[in-house]
Amino acid sequence: MRYISTRGQSPAQSFTEILLGGLAPDGGLYLPEQYPQFSQDELNAMRGMHYRDLAFTILSRLIDDIPAAAADLRAIIDKTYRADVYAYARAGQNAEDITPTLKLEDDLYLLSLSNGPTLAFKDMAMQLLGNLFEYMLAQKGETINILGATSGDTGSAAEYAMRGKQGVKVFMLSPYQKMSRFQTAQIVSLQDDNIYNIAVKGVFDDCQDIVKAVSNDHAFKAKNKIGAVNSINWARVAAQVVYYFKGYFAVTADNAQRVSFAVPSGNFGNVCAGHIARMMGLPIAKLVVATNENDVLDEFFKTGVYRPRGSANTYHTSSPSMDISKASNFERFVFDLVGRYAAKVRELWGKVDAGGSVDLNEGGWFAKVADYGFVSGSSNHANGMQTIRVTHERYGVTIDTHTADGLKVALEQRRAGIPMLVLETALPAKFEDAIVEALGQKPNARTAWRLGSLPQRFEVMEADVAAIKQFIVEHV
Ligand SMILES: *Cc1c(COP(=O)(O)O)cnc(C)c1O
Repeated sequence: MRYISTRGQSPAQSFTEILLGGLAPDGGLYLPEQYPQFSQDELNAMRGMHYRDLAFTILSRLIDDIPAAAADLRAIIDKTYRADVYAYARAGQNAEDITPTLKLEDDLYLLSLSNGPTLAFKDMAMQLLGNLFEYMLAQKGETINILGATSGDTGSAAEYAMRGKQGVKVFMLSPYQKMSRFQTAQIVSLQDDNIYNIAVKGVFDDCQDIVKAVSNDHAFKAKNKIGAVNSINWARVAAQVVYYFKGYFAVTADNAQRVSFAVPSGNFGNVCAGHIARMMGLPIAKLVVATNENDVLDEFFKTGVYRPRGSANTYHTSSPSMDISKASNFERFVFDLVGRYAAKVRELWGKVDAGGSVDLNEGGWFAKVADYGFVSGSSNHANGMQTIRVTHERYGVTIDTHTADGLKVALEQRRAGIPMLVLETALPAKFEDAIVEALGQKPNARTAWRLGSLPQRFEVMEADVAAIKQFIVEHV
């Protein structure tokens, strides 16, 4: 399997060649040259498989340059998807399912993706990435220093995935005293020597600007082996394809049944994996893109106009992990939508990269969106609170604010006879204040466990690129 760039001007690469990188050299994103296809017989054989076997069956079609033998790809997958890693299953769910479903009513389910160590779906991919990185670096005898900025979920998922890994160090910038108590406690309580938390006196944008400044210093980046694990990383998208299959098999009796998925979306990484699962032959009826007040994607799927916004026009909402106004993985879908016509993507994203918007009605491309099953809707704070309350009253289930946005839009897009699975992208314990606002009570505290009792490990630093570079040099 070779990977090509959406902008068509980079050489095709193998999986391990693109694993540690981000963007292709031409500024595009990598996608498989062709999507592997699963036949009806193969789908039948996959039905009932354990998550690990399913992951191996799917990923071995996308990763062909890590030996599939017991010691390699198989071992990496077996080490990643274990019940003791995805341990926060609800009562009535089996942690061995890794991504168990929870039936709310007939044809309406949650697909629980957030039972991993940081209680958000990003663990599903990041845990695999941690094990893939360790394996590859050992093979090549190399090391990597991951530099990132986080306002919440990504940083913690990256740290929990990379903690204790040979050859990997993590330098994670976060805005000092600006994350939720839970999110802060989760990262600063990590005791591993290879994790460096830097609390920057500033806001999230300051942290991100520092990461950009360091990454643009190519000499510094090369000398200090700086890498990233951001949401455009292909391995993250690939890992996410698996749970669409798992969810599908969990709620259907045979492959004649189609299902729909509702996906709380920000960077379009999660739902992009759903698109790829569909392209690989999974019988998906609709992919329901749900946004919060930051509704750039909803606007596109309603009008055909993609109009990214700047940070001044990005709202801070109660589903903060979806507060994104430029969906970094969206280019992958548009590449397929325009018939994999890379010159067209170059033309369109030339405008997007320059801060402009693009209209896919021109050329008739938008009319083809329906062929890919996409529909959309948006939610706001009042909708989210209402959905959390109603779900609690009706089903006795507490959901988080992001999942609530997904469920709100799922209910609008539901069709009789087609099971709807709502992707649960975080557990409510992560967003306690919002749950108290909605329900007047705290979420179940079963996960408050180790937080708070351990010494806190973090450095407070000024928002100063030179000082942060100096810190990195002293610790790599
Ligand atoms: C990251 C995240 C999302 C958005 O996922 P994308 O892949 O960026 O679309 C939704 N909900 C939660 C809880 C997240 O952490």
